Amino acid sequence: MSITISDSKNFVSHICIACGTEFFFLEAFDRSLKECKNSFYCPNGHPQCYTKSKSEEVREMFEKSIERKDEYIQTLYAERNAASARARKAESALKKLQPKGTTK
Ligand SMILES: [Zn+2]
Repeated sequence: MSITISDSKNFVSHICIACGTEFFFLEAFDRSLKECKNSFYCPNGHPQCYTKSKSEEVREMFEKSIERKDEYIQTLYAERNAASARARKAESALKKLQPKGTTK
């Protein structure tokens, strides 16, 4: 049996990853599923979902690398400030040890 749909709506075909049943969603609904990543089911009840696209994965990896870089820079600033404080303290201690009247 065949069904002819003469309406101008666009459908997106899906094939269940578990049972192979082909089913269709309206294109707009399918697009919303891709955006929200909510799960959906084939007509036989097998759960399906869209995973992240490659561009989404790359964007997330890039954003995480930027975060790690920023954290690393903050760590370096903190270490530099601590090293400067230790240097100032050592210079102060050294001046106290020098005999009075001597110059460098
Ligand atoms: Zn199925």
